[in-house]
Amino acid sequence: MKIRVLTIFPGLLNSFWETGMIRRALEQEKISASAIDIREYAEGRHRVTDDRPYGGGSGMVMKPEPLAGAIRAAKKDSPEARTVLLSPQGRVFRQAVAREMSSLEALILVCGRYEGVDERISRELIDDEISIGDYVLTGGEVPAMVVIDAVARLLPGVLGNDDSAETDSFSGHLLEHGHYTRPREFEGESVPEVLLSGDHQAIESWRREAALMRTFLRRPDLLANRPLDSETLEILKNWCRDIEAIIRAQPLRGADTLPGAEPER
Ligand code: SAM
Repeated sequence: MKIRVLTIFPGLLNSFWETGMIRRALEQEKISASAIDIREYAEGRHRVTDDRPYGGGSGMVMKPEPLAGAIRAAKKDSPEARTVLLSPQGRVFRQAVAREMSSLEALILVCGRYEGVDERISRELIDDEISIGDYVLTGGEVPAMVVIDAVARLLPGVLGNDDSAETDSFSGHLLEHGHYTRPREFEGESVPEVLLSGDHQAIESWRREAALMRTFLRRPDLLANRPLDSETLEILKNWCRDIEAIIRAQPLRGADTLPGAEPER
């Protein structure tokens, strides 16, 4: 995949290209990625890329001409690319969006600054707008790195077998289970016994149930209104039965408090 980041601060991405998974992916030519300085497409001695907003008001707006020049040059180089503007007003970036983007041949990521980019740029030259969440950052460079990181690790061969993306949170409908490494005991807390058992089937079931429990407690929205597989449903039903048994065992009117029980008159 070919990735171009259009920014007025290309230096912000330097350590990103030089570190960890992205560096490996670049070295192994699984991706080709670089930042392009929008200023190079600005006119005049000072290469100005921003101007005051028409209609007045605070802040500056990114001028359309340098942006259009930079986007058109990047598109000429990769005509098949999807051009994405990073914007708090875009569709929210999720794992499903990362997966969708990972099938693209090329990606042009346009980073805004100040109050954002001239509206005519987003109307004419942008295919998609992506937000990394409901908050406002000062620029699109951090969101661009978020997108690149999430997309690149889904490309074939970018992650080693040791850190496969298949079991990650959101790859199905669950958060991932917790992880443990040595030592066996840390400040009085032990690793769950089953993980030391060597019984792969038992470990797999424990992980599945731990992932479900974590999702239920932290992000029940991920489970609601989704088709769940039969194994997940069976675990949930077992929990229901266990909870009912605890409530029924209460000495005073325990069973009356179960959902669907007749209210006391
Ligand atoms: N005035 C804009 C608004 O209210 O929607 C916010 C502009 S923001 C200060 C400057 C730039 O940062 C944006 O053009 C965008 O590129 C980037 N940015 C800020 N927050 C973002 C977010 N949550 N997701 C993606 N990009 C964001």
